Amino acid sequence: MPNRFLAKPEKPAKAEKSAKPEKPAAKTGTQPETPTGPSAIVVGGGISGLIAARDLQRAGVRVTVLEASDRFGGCVGRHSVAGIELDSGAESFATRSPAVPELVGELGLADAVTAPNPAGSWLQLAADDLPSGAQRMPASGLLGIPADPRHPDIARALGRAGAARAAMDKVLPVGNLFRRGSMSLGELVRTRMGEAVLRRLVTPVVGGVYSADPDVLDVDSVAPGLRAAVSRHGSLAAAVGAMRAAAPAGSAVAGLEGGMGRLAEALVSDLETAGAGLRTGIRAESLAREAEGWRVRCSNGRELAADAVVVAAEGPAAADLIATALPEVSAYRPQPGPGVALVTLVVDLPELDAMPRGTGVLVAREVEGVDAKAMTHATAKWQWLADSTGPGTHVLRLSYGRALSAEDSAAEPSHVDRADDDLFRQAVADASGLLQVGIRADDVVGWDVVRWVGALPSAAVGHKDRVGAVRAAVAEAPGLEAVGAWLAGTGLAAVTADTRTRMAALSNTLL
Ligand SMILES: Cc1cc2nc3c(=O)[nH]c(=O)nc-3n(C[C@H](O)[C@H](O)[C@H](O)COP(=O)(O)OP(=O)(O)OC[C@H]3O[C@@H](n4cnc5c(N)ncnc54)[C@H](O)[C@@H]3O)c2cc1C
Repeated sequence: MPNRFLAKPEKPAKAEKSAKPEKPAAKTGTQPETPTGPSAIVVGGGISGLIAARDLQRAGVRVTVLEASDRFGGCVGRHSVAGIELDSGAESFATRSPAVPELVGELGLADAVTAPNPAGSWLQLAADDLPSGAQRMPASGLLGIPADPRHPDIARALGRAGAARAAMDKVLPVGNLFRRGSMSLGELVRTRMGEAVLRRLVTPVVGGVYSADPDVLDVDSVAPGLRAAVSRHGSLAAAVGAMRAAAPAGSAVAGLEGGMGRLAEALVSDLETAGAGLRTGIRAESLAREAEGWRVRCSNGRELAADAVVVAAEGPAAADLIATALPEVSAYRPQPGPGVALVTLVVDLPELDAMPRGTGVLVAREVEGVDAKAMTHATAKWQWLADSTGPGTHVLRLSYGRALSAEDSAAEPSHVDRADDDLFRQAVADASGLLQVGIRADDVVGWDVVRWVGALPSAAVGHKDRVGAVRAAVAEAPGLEAVGAWLAGTGLAAVTADTRTRMAALSNTLL
């Protein structure tokens, strides 16, 4: 029976009210390292909240983490399918920043860091765009934007006319496009390189990462520094090339043997050892500033008091909570991000040992007969997983929830709302088509559907300005801080780096 997991948990039932605020509990006696200094409440036990709590606790702050759902980790979690423990959300981290490698090193997980299979993924295009339908994903620069549009793999994906248009980027004047206010990633790519680059390369990549259309994504939020680099280097391709050259060599992402779930588990275990208060099933409902610190009202009716509060919830929930103390923040509340349904299939099919589509497939929107926006062949991507399943058994993860335009979303229901059985049948058909290997229902030895609703932050045009406004408001409230993907950017690398910088500053003000 498939599991279901909602990123947004049901609200826990209210318990008896208590008028007296409690100070967060600090363990005594057997836990000599437990700090006795100032106190902090961290709201949200995703990766940002857990990192925030750990850094504060290590600096000497007494920390309590409140997590609304029944488990810690947020978008990093696990599920068991056909008896195999798998990541149910994030499965890798970017290595272009040292943030996550440093953290996993501190947590004693350095030996578990592993690179994915360098075979890479494939790109499935519409038959009209590419007669063979699929090709290896060209080594692109950034979010599918090519650093060299004349590279034969890129030119093949773009077609003759598309490649010629993309090459114009080199000669088109930069103009004032980059001094303007906010602009979308789609507009930037279309203006510089044309529609084919946008539709055939950027949209499939961006859909896989953000579940969003490039025309709605704020370029400055999803590709910070890109617009300035275009001005500096004179073309989009040169800007992407320069940004790539500045990044460390080697694989752009890595994972952990055993899955990214180990990161959340290690953080929780570290916090437990250090004596932090860890509470699940408790939603923070409002914040109030007091003469000497902060008071947090919780869904169980209790109130907690602390010297500082760190809000580490996802965007809409975080903005609503902060607005209970700073009403001006409600004007910058982000829209809930798109929902994603992940269908995991475990199949016994030795034909897949040949990895016919490398580590997976990104699917262009125009491809007919396939609803998935991406498919990861997890046992091809991660050797530790292939070792654990053995030859002949494969894990395929298909993701649904392609961003629809306003008209389309009125006309057709979101894939995320489809029934599990329906998604399962679709996933079997899509996987067969994408892998060009017939998969029958009885090849499937286990499957699961996991839905992430509102977990991916919406980074719509103007997001960077809204983030700036929230940060400015929070900075005016001593002892209050806000972290998480809606502010730092999607991805474990972004949230880790930002949270750690902010916690270092907060501990300095508290101690
Ligand atoms: C399906 C999926 C796959 C992904 N894959 C990758 C990947 O491979 N690599 C990568 O780098 N990134 C990936 N990401 C993105 C990455 O996982 C996130 O950017 C990151 O984990 C966000 O962490 P966070 O702590 O900011 O937020 P979240 O993980 O959203 O955590 C927020 C937490 O706050 C809790 N909360 C909310 N409101 C309250 C409240 N009022 N009181 C108490 N608790 C509250 C929520 O229950 C939740 O646990 C993926 C995301 C998803 C959804």
